[in-house]
Amino acid sequence: MFRGYRIEDLTGIVFGRWTVIKYYGKIKRLHYWECECECGTVRPLQSQSLTNLKSRSCGCIKKEKQKYSYKIKIEDDNRMKGIIDETKKN
Ligand SMILES: [Zn+2]
Repeated sequence: MFRGYRIEDLTGIVFGRWTVIKYYGKIKRLHYWECECECGTVRPLQSQSLTNLKSRSCGCIKKEKQKYSYKIKIEDDNRMKGIIDETKKN
C-alpha cells in the first residue's frame, strides 16, 4: 500500500472528533488521510495536523462553542432585565 516509504498507519485512530477512515493519498509530498468528523463531515487531512491535534474537528466544535456563548449572553441579558425590573419596583 505505501510503496517505497514508511508512514504510520493511522486507520481507525480517533483524533479529537476525527476518526481516520483510510489512507487518502499524497498531496504536495504530504500524506493525507480520509477522516470522518463526529458530525458526519468527511475530509482528507494531513497526518501532521492529526497527530499534532492541529485539527480537532471540521469546525463544528467552534460552531457549538459560539452557540453556547450566545446562549449564556441571552441568559445574562435576562438576568440584567430582572435586576432592572426589581429596581423599578422599589
Ligand atoms: Zn464536525
